[in-house]
Amino acid sequence: MDADHLSVRLATVADYVPTGSRLADIGTDHAYLPVNLAKRGKIVGGVAGEVVKGPFENAQHEIKKEGLDDRITARLANGLRAIEASDHIDTVVIAGMGGTLIAQILTQDFDRLTGVQRLVLQPNVGEKNVRQFLMTHGFQLIAEKIVTEDGHDYEILVADRSATPQQLNEEELRFGPYLLAEHNAIFIAKWQRELARTQQVLAQVQSAKAVPATKVAALETEIKEIEEVLQRVGA
Ligand code: SAM
Repeated sequence: MDADHLSVRLATVADYVPTGSRLADIGTDHAYLPVNLAKRGKIVGGVAGEVVKGPFENAQHEIKKEGLDDRITARLANGLRAIEASDHIDTVVIAGMGGTLIAQILTQDFDRLTGVQRLVLQPNVGEKNVRQFLMTHGFQLIAEKIVTEDGHDYEILVADRSATPQQLNEEELRFGPYLLAEHNAIFIAKWQRELARTQQVLAQVQSAKAVPATKVAALETEIKEIEEVLQRVGA
């Protein structure tokens, strides 16, 4: 992968960055995403934020190499602290991290999101935490995608600022309202695998000398929820 050839996962993230936006890509690594979008004229400019020095230097190098340092600024900073008011950022991408970390990054410096209208978030795991964040912080999910790459499934969650975000129930938080409605083959395969994995964990927990009742109950509830959804979508 490079800035001219994004992975399917990052290309899908890129699809949801509005044309003409000012983007902050938090946890940018090589800055392939903002460089790709700037080269294609899709973003006006923005910030490539990175908390680790090595990737930050890679981002700086990539931006300079492409002659984009007048439009994209690489900043070594933790999470949203890479964004300054004078950047006029309207779109934030956070991709390739766990959902808990994404929600934590968004929550801990929430004031930096002033002026941000769109979030494009791609949690590797823990998508529920991200949906929970959106629903409770004035962002409305407007689209969800699931893609497969190198044997992994990735969910891409897109949300716009809203005064009255739709409240999601437990099932929607776990499975995603749009992904659930679409229930494509990738979604079904993901949850079939997740069901098998959870059943395996339950069997292990039950074979322990002292069986933890609350853990068993939680796993049984999870299994039931997944089975119900798979049955409903005809899988
Ligand atoms: N966003 C790119 C992508 O999706 O391909 C890179 C994903 S990479 C797996 C995650 C990157 O996020 C790493 O470069 C890591 O250093 C960075 N990161 C992790 N926590 C961060 C934080 N709190 N603030 C900024 N960057 C962070």
